[in-house]
Amino acid sequence: MSALAAATGAINLGQGFPDTDGPDEVREAVVAALRDGAHNQYPPGPGLPDLRLAVAEHRQRFYGQTFDPDTEVLITTGATEAIAAAVLALVEPGDEVVALEPFYDSYAACIAMAGGVRVGVPLRPPFDGLDLDALRAAITPRTRLLMLNSPHNPTGTVLTREELAAIAELAVAHDLLVITDEVYEHLVFDGEHIPLATLPGMRERTVTISSAGKTFSFTGWKIGWVCATPELVAAVRTTKQFLTYVSGGPFQPAVAHALRLPDSYYAEFRADMHAKRDVLVGGLEAAGLTVYRPRGTYFITTDITPLGFADGLDFCRRLPELCGVVAVPEKVFFDDTPESQAIGRPLVRFAFCKKVEVLEEAASRLATLR
Ligand SMILES: *Cc1c(COP(=O)(O)O)cnc(C)c1O
Repeated sequence: MSALAAATGAINLGQGFPDTDGPDEVREAVVAALRDGAHNQYPPGPGLPDLRLAVAEHRQRFYGQTFDPDTEVLITTGATEAIAAAVLALVEPGDEVVALEPFYDSYAACIAMAGGVRVGVPLRPPFDGLDLDALRAAITPRTRLLMLNSPHNPTGTVLTREELAAIAELAVAHDLLVITDEVYEHLVFDGEHIPLATLPGMRERTVTISSAGKTFSFTGWKIGWVCATPELVAAVRTTKQFLTYVSGGPFQPAVAHALRLPDSYYAEFRADMHAKRDVLVGGLEAAGLTVYRPRGTYFITTDITPLGFADGLDFCRRLPELCGVVAVPEKVFFDDTPESQAIGRPLVRFAFCKKVEVLEEAASRLATLR
């Protein structure tokens, strides 16, 4: 869809990347690191020690949770590699992996690469919560791992403390490992982000994953991290070693700088994205779509049925020509079963991590669809 946007000159509300860079001082920190000559060769395998320390300080500052930067933090090539390395490390062929459907696209691929069996727990319109009975029903004696993503891409669902407590209880009762993908941890607009690892019984069985891309608006830098027990970190590090070994030398000190930005940075970033969410929610509603207001992330899920369309893929292919906007069909995030495809078919995802004037222009173009 990004290629389609480039080819047609349409406004790209498809892929989730900001159209403005993050803080200047963070960008300048990369330039300084490039120039100082100390960061252009392989960083240490587990990541630059000062970045591991900054990750641990950040978890302490925002969630009051302590991780040992030497044994319990691992730097990865974005959250994407952290997910791949964790799944390859923890899933054996035939193990069942329970994940929220719709799935962020890399989950299905990584589970398949590990020879695991994907089991979806559906999030369903209006995407304001998790069906705990469906989660219970998905767990079998073969379940090895739960993969959670909250705030959730693409639906914007943010799991509540009650939901997380129920998940924790199930994980403990069935002795499951859990991977939590928290890349949108600083983008919760309604409610709060609660890391699963802070709940009773979860610290020792959870691999917490996050990254700098979304939080600091540098999605091209690909610096992520894993926080977990020494045993789990060692397992993930062992696979990571043979995926990339290391990456992003000069970006690592800059991300350490970014993580130490004052609370005001995080608050302003969230307020800015909150305002953008509201602009695009208003625009999409005015255009006549059914809008599932997201509690977090960069994304808004809509249903195109009120506009007389039935299939999101067909709609998204035609959207550039119809009104000069690009969006993403959500059925690609659903299982191939007829039931899942029926739910995903009319859903279309719009990203709002763009300048307000771009969102307003997109909204006025979409208004012509009526
Ligand atoms: C963007 C995204 C990622 C990937 O993060 P990177 O740090 O860019 O690799 C992982 N999970 C979700 C849910 C995302 O939206």
